Amino acid sequence: MASDATTATAGRDFIRDIIDTDIATGRVREVVTRFPPEPNGYLHIGHAKAIWINFGVAEEYGGRCHLRFDDTNPSKEEQEYIDAIARDVHWLGFDWGPHLYHASDYFEQLYEWAEHLIRSGKAYVDDLSPEEMRAMRGTLSEPGRDSPYRDRSISENLDLFRRMRAGEFPNGVRVLRAKIDMASGNINLRDPVLYRILHTDHPRTGEKWCIYPSYDFAHGQSDAIEGVTHSLCTLEFEDHRPLYEWLLDNLPVPSRPRQYEFARLNINYTVLSKRFLTELVRQGRVGGWDDPRMPTLAALRRRGVPPAAIRDFARRVGVARANSLVDIAMFDHAVREHLNKSALRRMAVLRPLKLVITNYDELADLSGLPENENISKMIYAPLMVTAPNHPDDLATGTRALPFGSELFIERDDFMEHPPNNFYRLAPGREVRLRYAYIVTCREIVKNSAGEVVELKCTADPATRGGNTPDGRRVRGTIHWVAAARSLPAEIRLYNPLFTRPDPGAGGDVFADLNPHSLEILPEARVEPALAEAVIGQAVQFERQGYFCLDPDTEPGRLVFNRTVGLRDSWAKAQASGG
Ligand code: ATP
Ligand code: MG
Repeated sequence: MASDATTATAGRDFIRDIIDTDIATGRVREVVTRFPPEPNGYLHIGHAKAIWINFGVAEEYGGRCHLRFDDTNPSKEEQEYIDAIARDVHWLGFDWGPHLYHASDYFEQLYEWAEHLIRSGKAYVDDLSPEEMRAMRGTLSEPGRDSPYRDRSISENLDLFRRMRAGEFPNGVRVLRAKIDMASGNINLRDPVLYRILHTDHPRTGEKWCIYPSYDFAHGQSDAIEGVTHSLCTLEFEDHRPLYEWLLDNLPVPSRPRQYEFARLNINYTVLSKRFLTELVRQGRVGGWDDPRMPTLAALRRRGVPPAAIRDFARRVGVARANSLVDIAMFDHAVREHLNKSALRRMAVLRPLKLVITNYDELADLSGLPENENISKMIYAPLMVTAPNHPDDLATGTRALPFGSELFIERDDFMEHPPNNFYRLAPGREVRLRYAYIVTCREIVKNSAGEVVELKCTADPATRGGNTPDGRRVRGTIHWVAAARSLPAEIRLYNPLFTRPDPGAGGDVFADLNPHSLEILPEARVEPALAEAVIGQAVQFERQGYFCLDPDTEPGRLVFNRTVGLRDSWAKAQASGG
């Protein structure tokens, strides 16, 4: 399990209070929780909160947390999702050890319990069509009406239910319903469906079953079979709790779990719904489940987000019963905080502009060279400067960075007609090329369209390393790479997937998709040390943000994702009390 300090909570929450009481009163000795994903899509950041709560609480109390696939609806579930979910939970830093379960492990037991309910007169086979059932269910203000099949005899119910299992009836023709109360104020208690007919192969049980239990019938009973003590779920299951308890009360289950509900994670500019994310993938609006713009764990991993940052974020959001909306800036802040510590610094120019050092030969140190050495060769020999790998962590050492007579700088770091507060490069002005020299722009070269395509500069040989021995003040410092020794790269910048903080509030969530969520910079240049970049491992491109190598990288073409930029609006807002 993720045993770093990130799983520890700063404060208390209502779930931990409940567990404390349960332990004090002796209701539970060992805390057992479970994370119960339905394998009908990839996990998203909302699930990370549920994972963190379930695994975190179990770890904190020395108990255990199960991974249980809620695989009761084979029409939507796939092995790909089962594998992805297990991989993502592990990646997040949690381990279920030997406690991997599936609701389908219990199909036989659940079936027996369904017969038990029939035999005790508490379940019946209903022949109403789904439409008729819906029409008779009533509303919040009106009671439902009893089905004409509600009073079938036990033997007829048993016979029909067994024939449902044997495959005698087509999909949707009959269901098994609990016989509770069609007049209940809680619609979930108006004879809920326990089993439906579905002639579909199941990823794990194959063709064995053609009837499948409902979520409500499977969930609490699976909890009871596994000895789960605290069944933690999101608030939308609150109204299901009376049914959860009714089933446990009326079945010979081996243990007595309890359900508690907490608020879902909601984040602005983000949609956390598997159904919607599935549509994005299916319609090709994104490149797949792991497209770095998606809120899935697979996408965040590909984008370079460290799992510890996600755990930290979940801890800061905390567990509460009241629904709330979290600012995406808070997530970015957690990511930045982790990457700032761990990411090595590198130089990369995203939108290159050529800069030529016209006095390059003056920079080369010729002393000690034999008289007959050909000086013109020196002009093109690489001159190396030294750069720290991490300015706050000198243990990471330094690297040699090739300088040259031709460099690239960021297009934005030059302005022909700069305002007064622009401290970077402009005609006649000085700027520091980080770790290298202070240069002055002497001449600009334009193409026929009038665009600046090249800057001719002189470097001050006395400023090697970017220092000013005469103490003169140079305010601007910019990054650069050597033209000849840098590597071509494609850089992918990600912006929010939606244009509004509350996607879908205007009625059509697809209309709120941001057409500029992906920005590709195909002509970037990066320093040669990045040839050794590792997929998924974060680096900081100085002055630009945190990036990581994407699996789309091929020989001769590095591809980097921007994980997150450097600007931290969240930290600023917190500091100013906003
Ligand atoms: P979605 O609405 O995205 O399809 P789901 O609830 O249907 O999610 P499940 O696979 O059933 O997906 O979820 C597994 C667990 O994760 C459940 O206990 C559910 O309550 C929890 N969960 C899902 N979304 C969130 C969220 N946004 N915040 C916290 N927990 C969540
Ligand atoms: Mg669900």
